[in-house]
Amino acid sequence: MTKETFQETLCIFCGKNLKNGLDHKITKEHIIPKVLGGWIKFPFVCAKCNNKFLGGNIVKILKRNIFIATAIKQLNITSAKEAYRHARLEVILDKFPSEKLIAYFDNKGRQRFFPKNLSDGSLLVEDPDLKSVLEKKIKKFEKISGRKIDFNINDFENIPTGIIIPISGTNINFIKHHKSMKSKITISELDKPIPFRIPAIIAFEHLAAFIFPEIYRPEFTPIAEWILNIHDQNRYVVCHTFFENYNPLEVKYLPYHYIRLDYKDDILSAVVVIFGFLVYSVFIAKINNLKYTFEKDLFDYYYIYDINNRKVYKFNPPQILKEEHAKFIDTVSTFGLYENKHYMKNNK
Ligand SMILES: [Zn+2]
Repeated sequence: MTKETFQETLCIFCGKNLKNGLDHKITKEHIIPKVLGGWIKFPFVCAKCNNKFLGGNIVKILKRNIFIATAIKQLNITSAKEAYRHARLEVILDKFPSEKLIAYFDNKGRQRFFPKNLSDGSLLVEDPDLKSVLEKKIKKFEKISGRKIDFNINDFENIPTGIIIPISGTNINFIKHHKSMKSKITISELDKPIPFRIPAIIAFEHLAAFIFPEIYRPEFTPIAEWILNIHDQNRYVVCHTFFENYNPLEVKYLPYHYIRLDYKDDILSAVVVIFGFLVYSVFIAKINNLKYTFEKDLFDYYYIYDINNRKVYKFNPPQILKEEHAKFIDTVSTFGLYENKHYMKNNK
């Protein structure tokens, strides 16, 4: 069957004939999600699969991941430039070690904290917000008490730092911390991990679009069903980027996504590297088949999605790269699966 025919008739995930009814109407799908700077669309997913499993959910999850959000900001990906505003990051300031604060990016992309009620009853407000928060508190007090408070907010810049300032006639006290007394930020938890299904979807759609247009054939069904979460959890995606080792704001992201991929029988083996940093190995196969997969010379070539130039390149890596990759696969087979199982156990 030709590529054209398959694109017009069958959904690569559920295999439904797209002419069967409205539910399975064909929709165009971004191989690399738009939020990651993807631009290539293929009409090979039905509306039902797209709405239920792909589309909106993926975008939402990706936008809330601090690494993705920071990459989008750093690389100025215009198709998703608002995305970083959705990211949330839990941080601990060393000045207040028992308090968890939530950080976000403001509309200029600066990292900011939400005001936080501390356990001693006080309110921790970030420097740029202090004046306006204080002004609101005073106005509220005036409204409730019906009294005018004698406090010149315009003189705020001249108020000394580091001491408790009571506002007379009210129950408001505040401390202005000196700007140079910045606390070290410790990232304690990342809000939304990226579900393993996302790199698997990218690998599968890439396979369908560039390598294997007859992807609706029966031997692909187990892969598609795993992606759709229908059954059979005995398949793996491994994340090699150990997030806790990195400060997302200091990572250097690249405007490229890499995909290396191989398919044999019902085994899909791929490495999906998002923004040159988030590395996933996708092994959609029964655990017993993995050894066979590792032994193979998987990566004779790889694809690069160049976000800025909107081009996909196909490369034949030199021998040295292949050797490096063999080591990489070896590490995956030793440690990766353990991590994956551990993750799945803790994130059910
Ligand atoms: Zn479908």
